[in-house]
Amino acid sequence: MTTVAAYAAPRAKAPLERTTIERRPVGEFDVLIDIKFAGICHSDIHQARDGWGEGIFPMVPGHEIAGIVAETGPGVTRFKVGDRVGVGCMVDSCGTCDACLMGREQHCAEGNTQTYNALDRSGEPTYGGYSTHIVVAESFALSIPEGIALDEAAPLLCAGITTYSPLKRWGAGPGKKVAVVGLGGLGHMAVKIAHALGAEVTVLSQSLRKKDDGLKLGADHYYATSAPRTFEELAGTFDVILSTVSAPLDFGAYLGLL
Ligand SMILES: [Zn+2]
Ligand SMILES: [Zn+2]
Repeated sequence: MTTVAAYAAPRAKAPLERTTIERRPVGEFDVLIDIKFAGICHSDIHQARDGWGEGIFPMVPGHEIAGIVAETGPGVTRFKVGDRVGVGCMVDSCGTCDACLMGREQHCAEGNTQTYNALDRSGEPTYGGYSTHIVVAESFALSIPEGIALDEAAPLLCAGITTYSPLKRWGAGPGKKVAVVGLGGLGHMAVKIAHALGAEVTVLSQSLRKKDDGLKLGADHYYATSAPRTFEELAGTFDVILSTVSAPLDFGAYLGLL
């Protein structure tokens, strides 16, 4: 075990405090990561406030982790000391069920092990990225290319994959019209990614308040959903609509835009 510095919520709704936690020894297929940056995702706040129930305290949030490999286990083949790596919201799964064998560990039949606020397969609590180091199986670490700064890479590990995955899966690309509903933390990421994939991107936002930002981020069009004519004008327009809004939406109205 190695003692490392961390920020933890000592109990539900309490502010984070400096503390120390124990990281497991580097196992055969593990890497030790010197954490340089960790994003703040809204689910970190939900969890630290125990908003989803059954929190494990003290809790060290953080599931958008970017850093440098500091040590490798003897069986590690994908990484070497000094490599730039990231860790997202999962750190383990059974590895043998149909979902795991298909590379969809998020659907593991036994349940995946979350980066923090979970118990690992030996029954020990997991602690996230608001700490100086983490030990993780190499199969749950990702390479970060040289071209992306580590601080900018961190949010891609959750907000990025959350929007990239559906865009990729539903074929966003050249010749496709993609609407992104909402321009917040996820929405702005979706606009950038859909634009980078080559799609024609429209933002559907409540008002035109963030229009300049949306266009700068790569949107081709920007509509206010509060404007009465928007839903008539855009009926049947889009190949893909990605909703990033957490408030209740009239899905029927949006389906009419597909
Ligand atoms: Zn997240
Ligand atoms: Zn599995």
